[in-house]
Amino acid sequence: MHKKLFIPGPVDVRPEILEAMSAPMIGHRTKDASALGERICKNLQKVFYTDNPILLSTTSGTGLMEGSIRSLTTKRAIVFSIGAFGNRWAKLAKSNNVPVDKVEAEWGQPTLPEIVDEYLSTGKYDVFTITHNETSTGVMNPVEEIAEIRKKYPDVLWLMDAVSSMAGVRIEVDKLGVDVCITSTQKALGLPPGLSVCSITQKAIDQGRKVEFRGIYLDVIALYDYMQKKAYQYPSTPSLSHMFALDKQLDYILNEEGLENRYARHLEMAKITRAWANEHFEQFAAKGYESNTLTTINNTKGISVADLNKRIGELGYMISNGYGDLKEKTFRIAHMADRTVDVLKELLDVLDKEIAKM
Ligand SMILES: *Cc1c(COP(=O)(O)O)cnc(C)c1O
Repeated sequence: MHKKLFIPGPVDVRPEILEAMSAPMIGHRTKDASALGERICKNLQKVFYTDNPILLSTTSGTGLMEGSIRSLTTKRAIVFSIGAFGNRWAKLAKSNNVPVDKVEAEWGQPTLPEIVDEYLSTGKYDVFTITHNETSTGVMNPVEEIAEIRKKYPDVLWLMDAVSSMAGVRIEVDKLGVDVCITSTQKALGLPPGLSVCSITQKAIDQGRKVEFRGIYLDVIALYDYMQKKAYQYPSTPSLSHMFALDKQLDYILNEEGLENRYARHLEMAKITRAWANEHFEQFAAKGYESNTLTTINNTKGISVADLNKRIGELGYMISNGYGDLKEKTFRIAHMADRTVDVLKELLDVLDKEIAKM
């Protein structure tokens, strides 16, 4: 039995999109491949609210996180972490020999603009990272406020992980001034895992050119240069199957559902889930900073999350336990991509019934 997925990636994928994944191959050095790449990039620019180029990488989101922090840092990076995925930026930097400092907020709390100001004002850094939506804690960062403070430091590159929120929440990349904004296909975009995408500014490209050892496969400058010269093609063979599917899904998001409706649906699902969480347990994220794409719930009843998931699994549903140290202390319900309000309500009913029996 297929379990309906309420985990923060991979998400359930609409049958039409799965079908698009199985379309026959085309040559990756053909005019058709260029046209496909161009259409995807132009449509992603609308989802990102950017006029800057979009790069595709045949890796999951972590690939572009690693590639961007390595290829673009000339001096020192500062990582503003609010959880497990924030910490990942610092690990990626360290293991690539990129000088890095990390400021970690208490889990459940956001990155406050004052903190960004405090660290950037030291002048020690030429890159900073922000997690837009921290999937371990269910916190969404106040990026508009961070963008205001950042105006004081226009030369420091802003790398943003929007892996679990882009296409589920409005993120106006150019207005915010984000230099590299990254997302993966298997979260709010609603595709299978295996491809990631990012926007990139000219400022980031110029800075990256000064970095001597950028690697090969994850070098975002190489991706950019090849794409520019070879009409939306890539240095190595991309996952064309993902590109077929992404092309189709972007058409659906932009022209059938519409971005506004998509954001509204995500918000509605978030409100319903939060209300349920606060009625029976307690939301983990600080009030006012809750994510619209997933809810992390404090396990105040001390139930066995593993047991709960087993019970609902037999009924065809799957939620997520807490991340890392929070494994049994919290659990997570994702409400993203093409999940509907009705199916979410179905899950919450099932949870009510099963929790009552525990
Ligand atoms: C899932 C996730 C990642 C990792 O992305 P992969 O596509 O699995 O590499 C990074 N950051 C956040 C916030 C995520 O939710």
